[in-house]
Amino acid sequence: MRKKKLVKFSKSYNDIFSIKKSLYKENTKRLKFILKSNKSLKNEGLRKFCKNCGYKSSPKFLSQFGMNYTLCKKCNHLNAINYDSPKFLHKLYSANKGKNYDHDKDYNYFFQRVKNIHLPKVDFLRQAIKSKIKVLDIGAGSGQFLKALELRKIKGIGYEPSKSFVKVGKKILKKNKLVHLDMNKTFHTILNDKESNVLSLICVLVHLEEPNAMIEAFKKSNLKYIFFSIPIFSLSVFIENAFKNVAPRHLGAGHTNLYTKESLYYMAKKYNLDIIGEWWFGADFADLYRSFIHSSNTTNLNKYKSELDKNFFSVINELQNVLDRNKICSEVHVVMKKK
Ligand SMILES: [Zn+2]
Repeated sequence: MRKKKLVKFSKSYNDIFSIKKSLYKENTKRLKFILKSNKSLKNEGLRKFCKNCGYKSSPKFLSQFGMNYTLCKKCNHLNAINYDSPKFLHKLYSANKGKNYDHDKDYNYFFQRVKNIHLPKVDFLRQAIKSKIKVLDIGAGSGQFLKALELRKIKGIGYEPSKSFVKVGKKILKKNKLVHLDMNKTFHTILNDKESNVLSLICVLVHLEEPNAMIEAFKKSNLKYIFFSIPIFSLSVFIENAFKNVAPRHLGAGHTNLYTKESLYYMAKKYNLDIIGEWWFGADFADLYRSFIHSSNTTNLNKYKSELDKNFFSVINELQNVLDRNKICSEVHVVMKKK
């Protein structure tokens, strides 16, 4: 008999709030970066097929921060109308030593993220799989997930294309290893892995030129489980669409496409994978809160903030829970198993 699927909803935003402070401080800088990145995507050719299902491109329906988007008629995946070519992706992630991507060399910040963001991921993964796990982490960043695994005494090895991330992680990791590797060489690593049973891709799939090639490599490998987090087309997108002076967090720059519940389930079915765990939690209302602050019309910002906290932030987790429970929130974590 098939094991019952683990389905979890929501996570308190209060733990994450202090970590996300850069979103507030760096609005102008981030807005400039998104616009520049979208502009460079616009110079690429048009996308001919849906990134998720390969169906011919659907008509555009959404325009924001200089980019247009379509919603796939077949699988409901959200795609930018332009193609995120290897050249575009290289410029975004590997050029400039990966400095385009937000990271912090502050050890306190690193450990705060390990504790509040990555340990809960490890615990969810353990709850979903239940048996012993060994992890191969692709796109490991500075190794925060590997560190969380280490703290739970779980073996993991990570590969990351940004040298500066690897440098940070290497200093902090004790048992688990973080190795520098170009993204195009990771398929080989996955296919040759004999040590691990879980392939983890934290915030990775959506950034790849061909996410399906990654799933196909997993299918051909000896690995049994795949664990990933993906951004979902949700209320956050509508908030970003309405607040033109607020740097978008969700759609734009590296997020050239977004999953939906339908496009996720399409992918699981196509690759004949069993979903054994889902954890739906988003930051849609946190995005709205941030947008209110950046767009406020007030003569006393501190007073405005304290009133907004009383009338909105105080119930932010409850509001978000409604979206989470309906699987229309901005992120989902998924564990799939080969049948
Ligand atoms: Zn599609």
